[in-house]
Amino acid sequence: MTNETIAAIATPHGTGGISIIRISGPDSVVVADRVFRAKNGKPLEEAASHTIHYGFIYDGNHVVDEVLISVMLAPNTFTRENTVEINCHGGLVVTEAVLACVLKNGAALAAPGEFTKRAFLNGRLDLSQAEAVIDVIHSPSSLALSAAANQLGGALSDEINQIRDVVLEVLAKINANLDYPEEDVDEYEPGSLLKDLTKVQDGLNSLLATANRGRLIRDGIDTVICGKPNVGKSSVLNLLARESRAIVTDIAGTTRDVIEERVTLNGIVLNVFDTAGIRQTEDRIESLGIDKSKKYIEKAGLVLFVVDGSQDITQEDLDIFETIRDKNVIVLLNKCDLNCIKTGGAFDGADAVAISAKTGEGLTALTNKIEEKFQLGVLSAENRAVLTNLRHKEAAHNALAAVSRAAAALNAQVPYDLVSIDITDCAAHLGEITGKTVSEEVVDKIFARFCLGK
Ligand code: GDP
Ligand code: ZN
Repeated sequence: MTNETIAAIATPHGTGGISIIRISGPDSVVVADRVFRAKNGKPLEEAASHTIHYGFIYDGNHVVDEVLISVMLAPNTFTRENTVEINCHGGLVVTEAVLACVLKNGAALAAPGEFTKRAFLNGRLDLSQAEAVIDVIHSPSSLALSAAANQLGGALSDEINQIRDVVLEVLAKINANLDYPEEDVDEYEPGSLLKDLTKVQDGLNSLLATANRGRLIRDGIDTVICGKPNVGKSSVLNLLARESRAIVTDIAGTTRDVIEERVTLNGIVLNVFDTAGIRQTEDRIESLGIDKSKKYIEKAGLVLFVVDGSQDITQEDLDIFETIRDKNVIVLLNKCDLNCIKTGGAFDGADAVAISAKTGEGLTALTNKIEEKFQLGVLSAENRAVLTNLRHKEAAHNALAAVSRAAAALNAQVPYDLVSIDITDCAAHLGEITGKTVSEEVVDKIFARFCLGK
């Protein structure tokens, strides 16, 4: 299949300064020569690798566009195949016209993710790195981006390969003992086998420990803003949205009675549910918005409990706090621009931050508090692997289960050849992450999620 030369528009569908049509495969340069006439009259076939050429795209005898063409020859390209990139003007019609010329002259339209899939199949990237490409493109925040970029750089692959190497060495030592029990092979004592298995367990446990934070980085922290009326809930949400570096978007599929907004604070993504829009009723509890927001509070990773810090704490405040005290709560002592009474202590040692939704005071303290609560600062400081991908997490989980079964079997004095079955299983699960042992079906599914032209 990789003999075919493929092409697609690699830039977003729309109007811009330039668009790029990417061509990859053995005939890339041949195809490009059929549609391109260089200003200097030289065919691209004679071009050195990694050079740029100026000229025009022709459809038969009429000019389609003025372009710059990059010629990059295998193997030093993203796909490890010959690659040509046509930089044309960034209009929808002109871009489609250039692509049409290329397709008419011998290239096939690329499937979504096909360039990256070729990079994987040709050994340019392993599977976890290829998956990181899509994560980089879709990163919702700078923190998510740095996790994805680490993965693209091979941080996860390195960690998995290190663990897998230990597992493979264990298997080799077991096999040597089984094959030549009497010979001068060093005996592999159960004690040292168990020590090796423990090393694998430790490695997997420490990787899995990053999964929770990894998910928060990637998908954001589900956050509920609650508090009695007029304490400043809507104002806090507005403040967060205003300070958010990313474009604030409404998340599709949210119910009408609760506003959900995705905001980022210093790289941390919060999916904020504001219960402000909830209609007031006679029922005091419901009028506090507690009833309807209950299900949001239940699944929330973080509750921002707003009180009016310029006033005395009331019974209503305490009643609401009772319903959320088991959650991950930060008390926001709002309106600290007025006169901030230090009332945080009223809430039983819960974390409290003085803030003004009006002036923005205290926002940095809030950001730091969230970072500290979810240990996200550690992640941005380290350059190590974080499990952000559910597929990787499951594979790591299965690998851990397998090695733990092996350790248990060893403790029960099960013979080595049986113990080695679980250890082999562990190696296979680790290989799923990097793509060393993964079915074509899974690979196809992963790349089908990519965008066209990537
Ligand atoms: P909600 O009912 O809890 O959503 O409260 P709102 O956000 O609607 O705010 C209620 C009132 O408090 C409004 O008049 C706001 O302008 C005011 N307010 C909110 N936050 C602050 C603040 O930090 N400082 C001051 N001075 N006023 C605030
Ligand atoms: Zn409000």
